[in-house]
Amino acid sequence: MKVHSADIIISAVSKKQYPKSSLPEIALAGRSNVGKSSFINTLIDRKNLARTSSKPGRTQTINFYLIEELFHFVDLPGYGYAKVSKKERAKWGAMIDEYFANRKQLQAVISLIDMRHDPTEGDIQMYDFLKYYEFPVILVATKADKLAKSKKNQQIERIKDVLDFDENDTFVVFSTVTKYGKEEAWQAIETFI
Ligand code: GDP
Repeated sequence: MKVHSADIIISAVSKKQYPKSSLPEIALAGRSNVGKSSFINTLIDRKNLARTSSKPGRTQTINFYLIEELFHFVDLPGYGYAKVSKKERAKWGAMIDEYFANRKQLQAVISLIDMRHDPTEGDIQMYDFLKYYEFPVILVATKADKLAKSKKNQQIERIKDVLDFDENDTFVVFSTVTKYGKEEAWQAIETFI
């Protein structure tokens, strides 16, 4: 998809603030620093609409982006900071639950995983959670440019194995540096909007 218009609609902290719109939504989840903001910016051909390298401690929000007046990207707060307090972690969980439990507009979830490493405990929990609630998942393996060609297939299999990946889901190998996987990611998204 060639994106001409992309705007942030709201940074929400509770469901009262979610957009009152019935447009389809594609949510994005991932560990902090996985490359989620970079992924959004690459897909919509913007340098900096989704903020990259969000710092721990910043207010956690659910960011709704309106794309082409057609659908919303819903950027969920990242997980997995070692340093966050129990209280902050609980708040994160409540925010995520509130979104997933209430959003009929949600069509699919893009779950991002750093391809250089095995999935983290948080990655596994997120995927299990999404499969438990039967959301279709587009698994995006990020930072593919950092992996030697010979290692790539091996690591794809490893990630699928650790997650017990559902072959009905889509697996996209992606790099924001080379733009590898951009078209494939769009094709997967377009089947849900
Ligand atoms: P977020 O916290 O998930 O939103 O992650 P960011 O998009 O801010 O990216 C975290 C860091 O990883 C930044 O320094 C990015 O430049 C870098 N990064 C993101 N995607 C890629 C990628 O595909 N390849 C490489 N080499 N670096 C990436």
